Amino acid sequence: APKGQSIGLAIVGLGGYALNQIMPRIAEADHCHLAAVVSGNAEKAATVAAAYGLPEDAIYSYDSYEEIAGDDRIDAVYVILPTGLHTEFVLKAFTAGKHVICEKPMALTSAECEDMIAAGKAADRKLMIGYRCHFEPYNLKAMELMREEALGPLRVIRTAHHYRSGPSTPATNWRHNRALAGGGPLEDYGLYGIQAGLYLSGEMPVRISASTQQPANDPRFAEIFAHTASQMIFPSGATSQHSTSYDGAGANMVTVRGQTGFLTMEPATGYGGHEMMLRKGRSTETLTPGNPSIQFAAMLDHFGLSVMEGTEILTPGEMGLRDTRLIEAIYRSAETGRTMAL
Ligand code: NDP
Repeated sequence: APKGQSIGLAIVGLGGYALNQIMPRIAEADHCHLAAVVSGNAEKAATVAAAYGLPEDAIYSYDSYEEIAGDDRIDAVYVILPTGLHTEFVLKAFTAGKHVICEKPMALTSAECEDMIAAGKAADRKLMIGYRCHFEPYNLKAMELMREEALGPLRVIRTAHHYRSGPSTPATNWRHNRALAGGGPLEDYGLYGIQAGLYLSGEMPVRISASTQQPANDPRFAEIFAHTASQMIFPSGATSQHSTSYDGAGANMVTVRGQTGFLTMEPATGYGGHEMMLRKGRSTETLTPGNPSIQFAAMLDHFGLSVMEGTEILTPGEMGLRDTRLIEAIYRSAETGRTMAL
């Protein structure tokens, strides 16, 4: 779509998620278009720019990144870098006067999240976190069922987000490097479960307890945890239990148990292939509320419209800060062996 109906996006970091998921979907969005790429790899950037029909002067490196300030084709940046680099590139985007969509997890500390939010406010620019499940038909349907109390009063949410990582080390894979990834699977994958616990319960926890596991003599887990289990207690008395790991057979599951019904989502939070089953008494219903793959374009359209119309962002920096504080509480609980009151 032309300018006026659509905003120009600079993609920062041409890694797996940018190249395989986000960039191919930008054309499906009505209110965003690709305007530039920012990469540390000049050769890859040139190939990608050519494939997407971008001119050579729309290619930036991390060293020339600040020059986007003078590029009117770029309204916003989409930061898709390793997590430990998000803050630096978000702050520089605000200094350059651009709006920002930043991948999850927002940052590794709540202090960094606070800095990002403050910088966005000072620059009067939007800050969105790429929480795509808020735009995905199955998760939206589940939120609607919960608002309608379709399962009766909520009792227990359980989530599992696991995969078995290959022979990575902190040096060969940023996801295993504490400075870039924090504690590991919780920030990367388990965050989807924590998010589901919050958007399905519609509550914030009053207590959190957790434990982590870091096996000795496994180079993959020299710096990060292999497994994190956590439990949140909500004011209503409902609980949510979350398990995430880089060392188990794949799992991507969310289940919700109310007093009169049971909802299973498996897979629940991926890019596609979602399945959802609602059980009440003896009746079981398979729900197919829509095509999950529209989540990417729907998220980008929400961002583009919010930027152009000045409307509220559904998944703003404040939500990323909220989640980062919960992750900090989870690690504090695991470290001290105590339940954290929030
Ligand atoms: P990748 O490792 O595939 O790509 C990261 C890219 O960042 C690299 O290709 C590189 O791009 C750039 N980069 C800059 N500095 C470094 C560095 N020191 N080490 C490694 N890469 C560097 O990661 P992903 O694309 O999987 O993840 C990027 C972000 O997106 C993360 O925050 C992650 O949590 C998030 N993500 C979100 C998903 C979602 O579903 N919402 C799914 C997957 C990831 P270049 O060569 O162009 O400089």
